[in-house]
Amino acid sequence: MKKIIRCRDIGYDCDGIFHAYSEEEAMFKAAAHARKVHHLKWLTIDVAERLRRVMRTEEVAA
Ligand SMILES: [Zn+2]
Repeated sequence: MKKIIRCRDIGYDCDGIFHAYSEEEAMFKAAAHARKVHHLKWLTIDVAERLRRVMRTEEVAA
C-alpha cells in the first residue's frame, strides 16, 4: 500500500505529488516540499490534519 499526497489537494496551484509507504513519510515529504517551495512554516497540527485528510491510499500490485 502506498500513500499519496498531491500538493494541489492541500490548496496549492502545484503539480507536486508525494509517494511513500507510510503516512508519516508521505506527510514529511509533503511538508518539506511545502516549506521549501510554498514557504509554509514547519508542520503544524493544522497542516498535519489537512495532509491526513487529502492523503490517498493506492494498492500496489505485488
Ligand atoms: Zn507544491
